[in-house]
Amino acid sequence: MNGILDLTLVKLVEKIKNRELSSEEVTKTFIDRSQKSKKLNVYITENFDKALEEAKNFDQKPDFKKKLAGIPIAVKDLFCTKDLKTTAASKILENFIPTYESTITDNLWKEGGILLGKLNCDEFAMGSSNETSYFGNVQSPLGANLVPGGSSGGSASALAANLTPITIGTDTGGSIRQPASFTGTVGLKPTYGSCSRYGIVAFASSLDQAGPMTKDVKDCSLLFEVISSYDKKDSTSVDFKRGNYLNNLTNSIKGKKIGIPKEYRVDGMSKEIEELWQKGVNILKDAGAEVIDISLPNTSYALPAYYIVAPAEASSNLARYDGVKYGFRAKGDNLIDMYEKTRSEGFGNEVKRRIMIGTYVLSSGYYDAYYLKAQKVRRLIKNDFDDAYKKVDAILTPSTPNSAFKIGEKTNDPVSMYLNDIFTVPVNLAGIPAISIPAGHDSNGLPLGLQIIGKAFDEQNILNIAFSMEQQIKFKNKITDWWI
Ligand code: GLN
Repeated sequence: MNGILDLTLVKLVEKIKNRELSSEEVTKTFIDRSQKSKKLNVYITENFDKALEEAKNFDQKPDFKKKLAGIPIAVKDLFCTKDLKTTAASKILENFIPTYESTITDNLWKEGGILLGKLNCDEFAMGSSNETSYFGNVQSPLGANLVPGGSSGGSASALAANLTPITIGTDTGGSIRQPASFTGTVGLKPTYGSCSRYGIVAFASSLDQAGPMTKDVKDCSLLFEVISSYDKKDSTSVDFKRGNYLNNLTNSIKGKKIGIPKEYRVDGMSKEIEELWQKGVNILKDAGAEVIDISLPNTSYALPAYYIVAPAEASSNLARYDGVKYGFRAKGDNLIDMYEKTRSEGFGNEVKRRIMIGTYVLSSGYYDAYYLKAQKVRRLIKNDFDDAYKKVDAILTPSTPNSAFKIGEKTNDPVSMYLNDIFTVPVNLAGIPAISIPAGHDSNGLPLGLQIIGKAFDEQNILNIAFSMEQQIKFKNKITDWWI
């Protein structure tokens, strides 16, 4: 394999800065490989010609102070990119060209990143397998007909297949961590309010957070440092002093207290996941951490609460797609008919299911019984974490209850699909950060991830723990080029 493709972000930046590599060479290498990736179906929109031009421009006038000096990056197609199609993987936005740039992507370009293209995902980020996309499902580079996870499935697949050195995703209930776990990559869901939501197509506004997806923890720290910023354009952005996450990264976690929540030992959990978790515990102990049993008593209510709160917010957010303001418009006999046809033809089945659930739980008569109740449960879940953090510094759990499954395996059973998020969803409800790192393989050689959950705004701590574990795990992804 070409050496460039195997380099981490940190190494690539170093080599570009030392003039051992040019941005053009690096960009061209990732474009060449991306052009062979049609079978994976990761790109919705390619930006290759422009990327190459920008790389040449960078080389002519390099600014080596920039943190992503001349690095090509493909991003999830949920981030608005000025003058470049942004679809949210939906027919309703098939031809939508934003006139503005999301703050997160803007932060990437300001630090010298170069846009390679827009990556496939579940429609409006609703899904766990990248099968709800209007542009077709994504395959995992780990095997034909295998899902890469979702909703940031295109991002995870592109990253694991070395089509982009790093990528960004969004995580409303697990959409960064679950695909990271399925593809043997690292994914961080930051604290709510840490990364701006401005210019990201909204799914459930009180849960959505963007975050880095990378090959290792160092890259994750650097990318997080770049994308996290206070933003006046997002009223939920929190103004706090961001750290130098990469410079401050340390593998010394001696004396850290790590909680193991007994409620995450769910019914029917496979032995492999159980063993992986135990392996994580042993690694932490070897590194000098203290492992403590804890309880998060309301965990079993997280998934039902999420599937009320998220659709409720989605139904409200998606009301704007009426055929007038954005994108696709169907022909109708009158205004109401046009609205109805636009939305019936423009949205896919999963999105319609969410809108129906959302409007139902918000309707008068059901609001108190469902929506209000779910909000109260959400508070209890947050309180559980607050109580736990009186005793521990972080929490270790598996990232997902299983490894990647086959395309089509769960499409007719939404509840079993929703169960995939059982370990990730509580974190979004509580607004706290969590990282998934690759930690082992199942009996079929597929990656399995472990999740480290932190206190609000304590990303440095979970990055450090992840870094320490990564060095002991020495995970190797078993990627073949079957798809070329
Ligand atoms: N799989 C979850 C859902 O479908 C989470 C999606 C996400 O995090 N965007 O809602």
